[in-house]
Amino acid sequence: MNTIIHKPSPSPNHPSSLFPQISRCKTTRHLKQIHAHFIKTGQIHHPLAAAELLKFLTLSTQREIKYAPCAKLARIEEGKQLHGFVVKLGLVSDEFVRSNLVRVYVMCGAMKDAHVLFYQTRLEGNVVLWNVMIDGYVRMGDLRASRELFDSMPNKSVVSWNVMISGCAQNGHFKEAIEMFHDMQLGDVPPNYVTLVSVLPAVSRLGAIELGKWVHLFAEKNEIEIDDVLGSALIDMYSKCGSIDKAVQVFEGIRNKKNPITWSAIIGGLAMHGRARDALDHFWRMQQAGVTPSDVVYIGVLSACSHAGLVEEGRSIYYHMVNIVGLLPRIEHYGCMVDLLGRAGCLEEAEQLILNMPVKPDDVILKALLGACKMHGNIEMGERIAKFLMGWYPHDSGSYVALSNMFASEGNWEGVVKVRLKMKELDIRKDPGCSWIELDGVIHEFLVEDDSHPRAEGIHSMLEEMSDRLRSVGYRPNTTQVLLNMDEKEKQSALHYHSEKIAIAFGLISTRPQTPLQIVKNLRVCEDCHSSIKLVSKIYNRKIIVRDRKRFHHFENGSCSCMDYW
Ligand code: ZN
Ligand code: ZN
Repeated sequence: MNTIIHKPSPSPNHPSSLFPQISRCKTTRHLKQIHAHFIKTGQIHHPLAAAELLKFLTLSTQREIKYAPCAKLARIEEGKQLHGFVVKLGLVSDEFVRSNLVRVYVMCGAMKDAHVLFYQTRLEGNVVLWNVMIDGYVRMGDLRASRELFDSMPNKSVVSWNVMISGCAQNGHFKEAIEMFHDMQLGDVPPNYVTLVSVLPAVSRLGAIELGKWVHLFAEKNEIEIDDVLGSALIDMYSKCGSIDKAVQVFEGIRNKKNPITWSAIIGGLAMHGRARDALDHFWRMQQAGVTPSDVVYIGVLSACSHAGLVEEGRSIYYHMVNIVGLLPRIEHYGCMVDLLGRAGCLEEAEQLILNMPVKPDDVILKALLGACKMHGNIEMGERIAKFLMGWYPHDSGSYVALSNMFASEGNWEGVVKVRLKMKELDIRKDPGCSWIELDGVIHEFLVEDDSHPRAEGIHSMLEEMSDRLRSVGYRPNTTQVLLNMDEKEKQSALHYHSEKIAIAFGLISTRPQTPLQIVKNLRVCEDCHSSIKLVSKIYNRKIIVRDRKRFHHFENGSCSCMDYW
């Protein structure tokens, strides 16, 4: 006999009959009405009802927090009320209810409450919830807590690894992100698409090209699709690691080039390498392909013009963006224009642009103009800008250093000493310079005047040899960059130990002759380092690629790709 089994439809009194309504809830007021209905009809005693309410609260919190951060506090309160309610009804033993409650707390950043509930109620077996907790700490920027939790996790999933890797990278802990990626490969959880996208920004920042190539190969071998997102991350990595040609190759290989992110990655890369004409070509190509340039793309094109001194092109693109396309310039666009005009010597025009900005100029813009004043010897405007800067950003070392450098360049040691004393008085310290070089997949980090490396002795003798050979070809150190009014000899020795020089010395003693050296520096390379690296590339017959905070310098046979314009 055949029996037809009907799935019973939920009775109107069963809470599941209201679930579709919960998911369609647009406002918390509506939700409260349903909540009240649950109470009135007694449905609230059903664990499913409480769990669904919490789930909605999590999702709506996620949505709301994005647009008005003060919603957080209100949500924490609602979360706590629901928590008390759930406990009173004895529903807290339901795993689904509890895990949604933990999510609400995590989403609101109430990590203490989430943590207590997570441990007290033995949710440790729930891998998904571990990941939610780890992610919560990462979002709060508390990497130590997230790491502790991660380390004590019995079964790590690929999501756990991804959360940690991207968390480290997003919070500026690039070395840790890469170390985690290495650790992951020692275990039995293979990286996936998200892992690769998460680790690549860290690879880019440290210029770890060997690892970057490995990531690319891994994607190809494992048939992980290099779509616009992963492709853009690879383009960014190759260009920031000095291989702009490889970046172009990846770009051409991406089938769907409709995403402006892909275009801004390649245009930004070309700009950084000083290939302004190519950047402009891509900008036109992008528009021919029917992709509307985003404001980030304009930042790339304008910075390309600024690096290459293409004043006319820059002006007309900026005009087009503001007056034809109607994009509201962001502070970064103003920054590019001030940089472009300032370097080209149009100091008054740059200053006017700043004065007409609808928002307060940031320190980057003012420093760009200050740098231009120094470059073109306009001390009067320089001092004016510096005063502005110090008034607005009294604890930022950059403006003091820039002003001091400007005084030093004209031999005004009295001015230098004054600035130094002011810095001392306010206890302002200069950002320490730091350079990285990757050898055989290991990243070596050097600080200014660093002698902590295991091969410090060898590095030191190499630095001595370098300065002897530089002197023998007639090189005289440019001591105007040194802040203190010390005697010539002291100044010269201070210059020897800029971190990029130490990294180069280490590269020279650790690699075969003719091996190209690739260095990443956190600050801008100084004029003295720039001219000595040019000579080092010739004397030692090495290609040396240096990425500083702003752009790439390809040193070869005594000259640099930036044509000394940087
Ligand atoms: Zn230097
Ligand atoms: Zn250069």
